[in-house]
Amino acid sequence: MIFLSILIILVLLAISYWLFMSSYSQVFGRYIWRVRTREKLIALTFDDGPNEPYTSQILDILSENNIKATFFMVGNCIERYPDVARKVLAAGHSIGSHSVSHRFRNYFRPNFYQLEVLKNQEIFDKYLNITPTLYRSPWLWRYPSLLRRLKSAGLTPISGEFCHSLEVFKIDANKIARAVIKKAKPGAIIIFHDGKEGGVGDRAQTVQAVGLVITRLLKDGYRFITIDELLKKDQYNK
Ligand SMILES: [Zn+2]
Repeated sequence: MIFLSILIILVLLAISYWLFMSSYSQVFGRYIWRVRTREKLIALTFDDGPNEPYTSQILDILSENNIKATFFMVGNCIERYPDVARKVLAAGHSIGSHSVSHRFRNYFRPNFYQLEVLKNQEIFDKYLNITPTLYRSPWLWRYPSLLRRLKSAGLTPISGEFCHSLEVFKIDANKIARAVIKKAKPGAIIIFHDGKEGGVGDRAQTVQAVGLVITRLLKDGYRFITIDELLKKDQYNK
């Protein structure tokens, strides 16, 4: 009996994860995780920043290789490092929204959308004078009413494949890089973390992994582009 109860709970947890948080689930509506193409194009994305010195180090690696990427920024982090956010924009990378606080519990507040999504658009406007059209939920969380509201606000939800499921635990850069190289396919969207949710955290292994991935995939004939280029749409409304 206990075994059966545990089994039912595990199955329900797995189904909930798939519906609400998986990279791939499209049950509640379109949540782009990859784009169909035959060209060897790949989009590198960075979540939870800006976070120094890691965001700047990633910018240097991208610049050395003449690569553009997409940064899904947290509003609180923009307020912490406005100059770094401006540096990302000035370097020609694309910027998308990743909520104001990255707090999971806020998803359950009735005013979540105003608090985390609309408020973040105001932060982008205030500090960078842009209105992003790309949105990635923290933990890729989604539910039908959220997707409907994003759509009506002209925001496109962007999922992707995590570079490594244990990246945030600062595992070895070589392990992260090997996982990404396995996932590399035409039209893939890869999720790295230059920050740590809404706070600050050590991302040295991620920075190193990004360099390794770029070196290898360039040799394999890949070209790195931003999400808006991959989707052929504007990244900002103004
Ligand atoms: Zn995040």
